[in-house]
Amino acid sequence: MTSSILIVDDNTSMIQLMARMLKGTANLRFATRGQEALRLMRDMPPDLVLLDAEMPEMSGYQVCEAIRADAALSEIPVIFVTGHGEAAAELRGLDAGAVDFITKPVNEALLLARVRTQLRIKSMADELRRMATTDGLTGLVNRRHFDELMQREWQRCARSGAPIALLMADVDHFKRYNDHYGHPAGDACLQSVAKALESAARRPADRVGRLGGEEFAVLLPDTDLSGAQGVAEHAVQLVRDLMLPHVGSLTAEHVSISVGVAVCTPRNLMQSDAPSLYRAADHALYRAKAGGRNRWISDLIEG
Ligand code: GH3
Ligand code: MG
Ligand code: MG
Ligand code: MG
Repeated sequence: MTSSILIVDDNTSMIQLMARMLKGTANLRFATRGQEALRLMRDMPPDLVLLDAEMPEMSGYQVCEAIRADAALSEIPVIFVTGHGEAAAELRGLDAGAVDFITKPVNEALLLARVRTQLRIKSMADELRRMATTDGLTGLVNRRHFDELMQREWQRCARSGAPIALLMADVDHFKRYNDHYGHPAGDACLQSVAKALESAARRPADRVGRLGGEEFAVLLPDTDLSGAQGVAEHAVQLVRDLMLPHVGSLTAEHVSISVGVAVCTPRNLMQSDAPSLYRAADHALYRAKAGGRNRWISDLIEG
């Protein structure tokens, strides 16, 4: 995928000069004011920002500090471009969170070398971040990242007073599936179940994770009991519809899942406790298993 660079300078001829030097290196966007630059970044975060230090209204240092303070932008590297080559100016830029420094007049070879280095580091960092948050087998969110999302959404719902729902799904008699069809087929089965769960949770804020083994979780922010029950019913049905033969199952002729649903409206931010939602969903899942599997059970708990 092509990288993207945002060039920010109040002097348009400076922008044109750097754009010419960087032609073919990345997709380029431009801004002449700090506020405009931040708006463009929030629309679509670039992989690198070339930032003029001296601009009217909002200085480059202030823009850089705003980038570092914004969770959605804080991973974007910034290279300062400034007319001042002194150590003090450079230190000020590094203090504000810049990764590198270029002085005007801009030397083409130096600009290209520094930009390429930062783009390479950024793409490695992106890949590491992706690997650290994704489950390799299914491409779903992994357990650690799911826990983080859960904590974040729980706190958001506690502030807004919206309900939050958690589904825990577990494949029925999966040990018998592996024993009969073998581990590679078991892995393929888990990939199909993951896709079915993703189709069941269709809102943009919904997140599906693999917690481990054949256990999945679905986070549904701003979703009440009847909404969560609808998603659970849909999930159980979509897995049935896969029609994956499972001769060892003691429940059905095909692969099925059991789902535990817990819904809560977190009321008191100080007492907010996402683990209580996990415990409730886990308990509901246990009851769905005990009640015959291939079904969902829900529970509404106190915030
Ligand atoms: P239940 O209906 O009560 O859930 O029974 P179960 O057999 O599904 O539950 P149990 O927890 O006893 O077994 C889970 C099995 O999942 C154990 C192992 O064979 C299998 N398993 C766990 N992780 C993986 C994986 O990554 N790939 C594959 N193929 N199998 C896995
Ligand atoms: Mg300037
Ligand atoms: Mg199981
Ligand atoms: Mg299990």
